[in-house]
Amino acid sequence: MMFRIARQTLAEIRADCAARAPEEACGLLLGRDGAVESSVAAENVADERLRHFEIDPAALFAAHRGARSGGLPMLGCYHSHPDAPAFPSRLDAERALDAGWVWLILGQHGEKAYRVVANGPIHGRFETVGITII
Ligand SMILES: [Zn+2]
Repeated sequence: MMFRIARQTLAEIRADCAARAPEEACGLLLGRDGAVESSVAAENVADERLRHFEIDPAALFAAHRGARSGGLPMLGCYHSHPDAPAFPSRLDAERALDAGWVWLILGQHGEKAYRVVANGPIHGRFETVGITII
């Protein structure tokens, strides 16, 4: 399975993560048919934002509401690891509850994408997916 993302959207996500470093940035991925067409930057409401992230529930609520009223559905989320590789932490896995969601992680050496699956090879929760820029 490949994860497809619009070039402009990926550029916006990279810029958001760079602007918020050294804190972790986070946001939502919106699109259709497995292709991310836009993103929404969300406030990181974690207590320790240098090492963790928690998407502002208000952003999730707004995205759900937008999708119900004809907007783009949510396909997943992104967050950054400003000084670590783009590999999911155990805490990331514990929080990855939405099966089928794609997690885009921007690490210190670039980004990688993972899909949330039952019994995945990574922490029992994720599998790696390739990224195609469209
Ligand atoms: Zn993480």
